[in-house]
Amino acid sequence: MTANTESATKPTIDQLPLEHSYAALPPAFYTRLQPTPLSKPYMVCGSASAAALIGLDPAEFNRQEFIDVFSGNSVLPQSQPLAAVYSGHQFGVWAGQLGDGRAILLGEAAAPGSPPPGRLELQLKGAGMTPYSRMGDGRAVLRSSIREFLCSEAMAALGVPTSRSLCVTGSDQRVMRETPETAAVATRMAPSFVRFGSFEHWFYQGRHDDLKILADYVIDRCYPELRDHAQPYHALLGEVTRRTAEMIAGWQAVGFMHGVMNTDNMSILGLTLDYGPFGFMEAFNPKHICNHTDQQGRYAYTMQPQIGHWNCYALGQALLPLIGDVEETKAALSVYEPAFKARMDALLHAKLGLGTVEESDSALFDRMFSIMADSHVDFTLFFRHLGDLHRDNASGDEAVRDLFIDRAAFDDWAVQYRARLLRENSNDVQRRLAMHRVNPKYVLRNYLAQVAIEKAQIKDFSEVARLLAVLERPFDEQPENEQYAALPPDWASELEVSCSS
Ligand code: AMP
Ligand code: MG
Repeated sequence: MTANTESATKPTIDQLPLEHSYAALPPAFYTRLQPTPLSKPYMVCGSASAAALIGLDPAEFNRQEFIDVFSGNSVLPQSQPLAAVYSGHQFGVWAGQLGDGRAILLGEAAAPGSPPPGRLELQLKGAGMTPYSRMGDGRAVLRSSIREFLCSEAMAALGVPTSRSLCVTGSDQRVMRETPETAAVATRMAPSFVRFGSFEHWFYQGRHDDLKILADYVIDRCYPELRDHAQPYHALLGEVTRRTAEMIAGWQAVGFMHGVMNTDNMSILGLTLDYGPFGFMEAFNPKHICNHTDQQGRYAYTMQPQIGHWNCYALGQALLPLIGDVEETKAALSVYEPAFKARMDALLHAKLGLGTVEESDSALFDRMFSIMADSHVDFTLFFRHLGDLHRDNASGDEAVRDLFIDRAAFDDWAVQYRARLLRENSNDVQRRLAMHRVNPKYVLRNYLAQVAIEKAQIKDFSEVARLLAVLERPFDEQPENEQYAALPPDWASELEVSCSS
């Protein structure tokens, strides 16, 4: 088939082929069920690049059939909807059984000849109650659905491993949170939504046969290179640990804070998963807590790397019966620190436009973060403007220097940084280009999301689409969208995000 006829034969939603490897697992792993319809659903926004991953034409977003499927109002004959069970540690405490309380898996889709990750699970979030809803209503509100949609697409564009988001549909149907809101359904995609907590679920029940079935499933589907490994479960833990460490280094480098790093929100693929009260660092404060519900600061920015390690330990504990040996389990977990350090170090060197490594670099980085914190410097703008600095004189300093309350502290640091650039004979033009390829100009600031949400709440969805388009090209200058790179307005300091969604 030629490329032309292939594009001409893109499936409509009702023709989309779906597979069901998860549904082939034993019945104890999930409950089959139907989504609960939403009254008069409408399209809020869709991601064309996410649609392309499963070979769907974005023109489908406007068809009623598509809206009906992705609001849970109609069920494709080829889908086998189910909600998965899992457990987890929440805020460091064993929480027992959780599960897809409002998420429903439709099946797995793939674009013909699609590059890795290949098949992607399609999951509706907010499509009604399941046996795992506990006290919840099975719904998601428009606000949190738009935040998850925008952030997953933004993170993908930033190059951070993440689940994707196909679309958000909405309805005027009321949902009670702190105040009445309206319901929405976000459709997510990932090669698998299996979490650390999926393994903990079987471990804490002593069901080691089921634990093995799950591990074999994950290896077979997501880590096929480990199938013939002499110690596949040990290798699996090592690989998940490495991916998790590298993902969190990616978060730190763009100032992303997840907000709820419970083990039930940790992807077995090392993907950023379950966007709730997340945030991007603005005025730099390493102790910043983005989740209003997290009063102890367990998931503060500076804590994320060690919490990631803690979570891998929880996974290691759960995999211990399969690995069979405590020392081997510890050996697999020991990958975390060096993997995090190596990735973080590489990312920081890239962020500062350094092509070589010197022993004194960590002192340069530490001092930089220390003066950034003292002056509450905007994280994103600092690194972006730093690219404009010149090696031999201060003529390019203005934009970055102006971010500092303590200008003298910046000037002192800039002397060291310039000396460092000189030692590696750094070229201003090339360094600026390279730095702008890794230091985004545009991130999903809370206030930008809030503006888009408030418009969407009065049925103007144009700002969601516009913001998505900006965030899909975070490293491009986009002079026409300059205002999206601006510091947050005063009212933004009142914004609070919590676990309520
Ligand atoms: P989260 O903190 O969002 O990861 O949610 C923790 C658990 O609560 C997960 O098992 C969710 O599926 C479930 N959950 C959260 N919100 C709701 C809701 N509105 N209805 C049902 N279950 C929910
Ligand atoms: Mg969750």
